[in-house]
Amino acid sequence: MPDTPPVFRFAPSPNGLLHLGHALSALLNHDMAKAANGRFLLRIEDIDQTRCRPEFEAAIFEDLAWLRLDWERPVRRQSEHLDAYASALHRLDALGIVYPSAMTRGEIKAAVTDAEAGGRIWPRDPDGSPLYPGRERELLQIERAALVASGKAYAWRLDMEKAVALLGKDRLTWAENGHGPEGETGTIIANPAAWGDIILSRSDAPSSYHLSVVVDDALQGITHVVRGRDLYQATAVHRLLQQLLGLPEPLYHHHRLVLGPDGRKLSKSNQDTGIAAFRAAGRTPEEIRVLIG
Ligand code: GLU
Repeated sequence: MPDTPPVFRFAPSPNGLLHLGHALSALLNHDMAKAANGRFLLRIEDIDQTRCRPEFEAAIFEDLAWLRLDWERPVRRQSEHLDAYASALHRLDALGIVYPSAMTRGEIKAAVTDAEAGGRIWPRDPDGSPLYPGRERELLQIERAALVASGKAYAWRLDMEKAVALLGKDRLTWAENGHGPEGETGTIIANPAAWGDIILSRSDAPSSYHLSVVVDDALQGITHVVRGRDLYQATAVHRLLQQLLGLPEPLYHHHRLVLGPDGRKLSKSNQDTGIAAFRAAGRTPEEIRVLIG
């Protein structure tokens, strides 16, 4: 059998301008693919149509071309593949591990505040958000059907406890070629339960980041996921979904984040550290490479 080349991807969301952190991610993926005689793909993660804009997508192409990166065409745009995510959701539903959830953000916040008013500390996920406090997973089949038919906005959530139980005694791990926040590297034990009942399909968008990212990485044959350390903990969820859906396991490489002058993670709303701003100021792509080290 001929050797298949490794496949890398850069997967930005067009909900703002790319900053130096994105430049680091894109350059690393591109350079690692080149060094390994591999392929470099670009994927536009635009399922959130309320926040994504065509002008930001155009800016992504412009910034990456200016950085002298070259990617394969056609570019996969998630908004054009919603059926793929719906079918993955159906497969999870057939396993009996998803449920509709109509609890709003405000209701979730109020439930957590209530629970904590009694002195109790409500558990948080690795990003610091309180775990879903609702009990909609306990709804009867007939109540679920009524909710879906009601016309009320609802999301689909994963019943995390059931999902983890389905894996049985097999340890869920991933191979980390980069580093986690505490320097973790090598074989990492995944703990998806730390995220609680995550959303698989949002009430205001036809999928979720977690579901679409694993479906696309598999469909595009991604062998190496190279991305910022802010997504290190999310890998546990991705490995769980890959296992449940019978998808292949890529290698992971989480890289350091580029911090702003205030020592904090860069944000898309800070135009000063945007690639376009550096370009407009007459900086060169080589200077960007030096700047991000
Ligand atoms: N779309 C995600 C972001 O812009 C990145 C997804 C990934 O690399 O897994 O942060």
